[in-house]
Amino acid sequence: MRQTLFAQHFGKPSNASLAYYLTAMHGYASARKALSEMTPDQVIEEVKKSNLRGRGGAGFPTGMKWGFIPKQSEKQKYLVCNADESEPGTCKDRQILTYTPHLLIEGLLIGSYAIGCKHAYVYIRGEYTHEAKVFQKAVDEAYEKGFLGKNIFGSPYSLDITLHRGAGAYICGEETALLNSLEGKRGEPRVKPPFPAQSGAFGGPTAVNNVESIANVPFIISMGGEPFAKLGKLDKSGGTRLISLSGHVKKPGVYEIQAGELTLRQIIDDLGGGILNDRKLKAVIPGGSSAPVLTAEEVDVVYDIEPLMKIGTMMGSAAIMVVSEDADLVKLLLRITKFYAHESCGQCTPCREGCQWMESLLHKIVHGHGSTDDLNLLVDVAQNIGGKTLCALGDAAAGPVISFVKKFRPEFEEYIKGAKHHA
Ligand code: SF4
Repeated sequence: MRQTLFAQHFGKPSNASLAYYLTAMHGYASARKALSEMTPDQVIEEVKKSNLRGRGGAGFPTGMKWGFIPKQSEKQKYLVCNADESEPGTCKDRQILTYTPHLLIEGLLIGSYAIGCKHAYVYIRGEYTHEAKVFQKAVDEAYEKGFLGKNIFGSPYSLDITLHRGAGAYICGEETALLNSLEGKRGEPRVKPPFPAQSGAFGGPTAVNNVESIANVPFIISMGGEPFAKLGKLDKSGGTRLISLSGHVKKPGVYEIQAGELTLRQIIDDLGGGILNDRKLKAVIPGGSSAPVLTAEEVDVVYDIEPLMKIGTMMGSAAIMVVSEDADLVKLLLRITKFYAHESCGQCTPCREGCQWMESLLHKIVHGHGSTDDLNLLVDVAQNIGGKTLCALGDAAAGPVISFVKKFRPEFEEYIKGAKHHA
C-alpha cells in the first residue's frame, strides 16, 4: 500500500491551524527532539541518510547542501525557503502552504538549528496572496506558543522567521535572484562563485531550500533518516514526491507517490484517470515547462530523477503536463517560448536576444510565413543558448524548442507547407 506523508492532510482549510497540527500530526515533536536530544551535526547526518533531494527542480541532496554551510564562520547564517513556485505547471508547494504551514515552520526550525541560523526567511511569490496570509497566520500562532522567538522549548536556541512577498517575477525562483530580491535589489541572478553557502543573503552563508524539501524534515527526524530513505523505491531518492498533474487528463491535481514508485504512464492512467474525452496521448512534459518533451511511446519510464535523465529529460519540480492528440504542439511551444522570453532578466545576450528570436521565428511559423530555413534557424538559436548563460533560464527556454522540433518536426513542417491552417 502506498505510504503518503502529506496528502491525507490536504483539502481542509481548518487543517492549517496549530490545534490540528499538534493533535493530528504530532506537531513540533520533531523540533523538540532535535533541539533537546540532537546536535546540529546529528540533524544534518540524519537528513543526509534520508536521501532527501531538493524538490524545487535541481534534485540536489538537502543534507549535503546544509553540510556546505561553514560552521566556523563569524557571519550570520541564513536559511531561506524558496516559496516562489513559478515553473509553469507546478502547484504543489501551495498545498503545503495552504494546508500544512506548520510543517514548513517546523522544518525551518529544525533546518535553521542544524546550520546555525537565527533568522530564516520565506520568499513567497507575489501571486500567492491567500497562501501568504495563511502562512503568516501560522507564523503568528507559532510565536504566540513560544515555538518561534527566544529560547524555544526552554533551550538556548532562538529563531525568527520573516515572510517576504515577491512581486511576480519568474526569475526570482532562481536562488541568487531570489536573494537579490530579498535584499531589496533587482531580482537578477548573481555570478557564481561565490555560491550562497559561502556568500548568500546579506553576505552571510546561506542555504536556499524549496518548500517541500523543508516540509519533509520533521518526518525525517520523527521516523529516522533510513526509514525515510526506504520510502523511495530506487536507491538515490528518499521519501515521497508531490506531483502536480495537469493538462489533458480526466483528474488533474496534486498527487503524492513514493519516490520511484510509478511509471509516467501509471501516473497518467491510474492517478489522472486517463486522457480527457478518451482521446489518445500525444506528448508529455514531465517536469515543468522547461523539461524536454516526451512522446507517447516514451512514457513507460519510471517517474524519478535518474530514469528521466537517462532518456534525455528531467523530473524538475515534478509538474507533469499531459497533451492529447487534439493539441497543437507548435502553438504550445510558441506559448512556452513567449513565457521564457518575457521572463528573461536580460543580463546575458544569448538568453535576452535568443529567447526573443525564438519567439519571433515561432510566431512566423504559426502565422504561415515560416520556411524550412526558419525552422533550422530556430534549432540553431536554441543550441546557441543552452549552456551559455549565467543561470538555468537559458537552458529552460532552449530545451523545449530543441526537443519539440526533434520529436514532432512534421507538425512544424505542416505549418511551413501551408497544410495546416495558420492562426
Ligand atoms: Fe537573466 Fe536569462 Fe541570463 Fe538567467 S540566463 S541571468 S534569466 S538573461
